[in-house]
Amino acid sequence: MDKVVNLCKRRGFVFPGSEIYGGMASSWDYGPLGVELKNNIKKLWWKKFVQERDDMVGIDAALIMNPKVWEASGHLKNFTDPLVECKKCHSRFRADQTSGLIYSEKKLDSGMAEQILSLVPETKCPECNEMWILDKTLETPKQFNLMFKTFIGPAEESANIAYFRPETAQGMFVDFKNVLNTTRKKIPFGIAQIGKAFRNEITPGNFIFRTREFEQMEIEYFIRETDWKKSFEYWLEEMKKWMKLIGLKDEDLHFAEIPDDERAHYSKRTIDIEYKFPFGQDELYGIAYRGDFDLKNHQEKSGQDLSYQDLLSGEKFLPHVIEPTFGVDRTFLAVLLAAYKEEPAKSAEGEDEERVVLKLPQEIAPVQVAILPLSKKDELSSVAQKIAQDLRKNLVVEYDETQSIGKRYRRQDEIGTPFCVTVDFDSLQDEAVTIRERDSMKQERIKIKELENYLSEKFK
Ligand SMILES: [Zn+2]
Repeated sequence: MDKVVNLCKRRGFVFPGSEIYGGMASSWDYGPLGVELKNNIKKLWWKKFVQERDDMVGIDAALIMNPKVWEASGHLKNFTDPLVECKKCHSRFRADQTSGLIYSEKKLDSGMAEQILSLVPETKCPECNEMWILDKTLETPKQFNLMFKTFIGPAEESANIAYFRPETAQGMFVDFKNVLNTTRKKIPFGIAQIGKAFRNEITPGNFIFRTREFEQMEIEYFIRETDWKKSFEYWLEEMKKWMKLIGLKDEDLHFAEIPDDERAHYSKRTIDIEYKFPFGQDELYGIAYRGDFDLKNHQEKSGQDLSYQDLLSGEKFLPHVIEPTFGVDRTFLAVLLAAYKEEPAKSAEGEDEERVVLKLPQEIAPVQVAILPLSKKDELSSVAQKIAQDLRKNLVVEYDETQSIGKRYRRQDEIGTPFCVTVDFDSLQDEAVTIRERDSMKQERIKIKELENYLSEKFK
């Protein structure tokens, strides 16, 4: 993990947020290479799950929605974590974690707070080591809502309270009728969205794994109730294909079937897809059958008819939903961890050395081709610059002429660039360049005029 975090900082994938001001807890900025990788992940997901399918459409809903949305979805009431506060040092902790009890989605009722502490009477404050005694050195656990609250307009009063969305999913339910009316899609069909969501996590951490501001890729797939089992299996398979596509290995994944007593009450089946991160196995994606819970609640709260009518049979019903959900930042982290390799290699002088290489799938590599003139001499750089400029029309190209060629190969390996093109003095005579492939390190001589075709074939 440390190696990947260091690589991210050193090569401009991810920086600590607001670093010149000492940073900000669990806030991260994606740098020049990070934004390319992240955009590539999102583009590939959109292509696979929206553009290549006839039964999917996309939306991009507002981040701040009418607060009634969160009333209907249950977030205002239930989207909480139990929180305890040490009376001595005033640090706050999630009750479930500090008590050592396994966290479940079930919420604390008032009696459970005492129960938790009575189970572990010997608990000390992890910050200041004070022995905790309920109501003396420790406040009674309180439910803390994880939504980010803000105010609309200049007056900070309760009538103007609004919330940053804690998930993208509700946008698809709220826009369901509009999508249906404008696209004339027939059940089964799905709505997808990629966007930011915000949760005021009490214990964020593990680099970009758990942050208060994060990005999601979500699908709500609308079906007839009778089809839910089949559709659930289908989408689980689609998620597996996706994970393979971005280079995640089966042995690093775990599919956790959520038992009856831990599932949300409206869900008949939920699977957490966990990844074996270096800090522990934890949630990467999820898939849930949500019944008609969301549309039904929005129909009740809004007073609008959100049902679907089959034009042929005239049958009218509230669709049920399968929800595959993907974290963008967690994908980014898992993809880097899966791609990171340290391998024996030979230096340009033939000596044994180790290379760090990101074996990223070609489709998502932040830089696709590096153009490396052997020397900074004008006659070489003018040829190399021209090649770079021509390739930039269709590919993401980096031009690098500093340091030895061996060091430049290592730099490109480290960021996962699939191909390096070296322009040398022979190029001036034979009008050819050397292409080096990242994983095999094999080199091939190609005519400059054939380069564009050669590469576009490789990236097909
Ligand atoms: Zn304390």
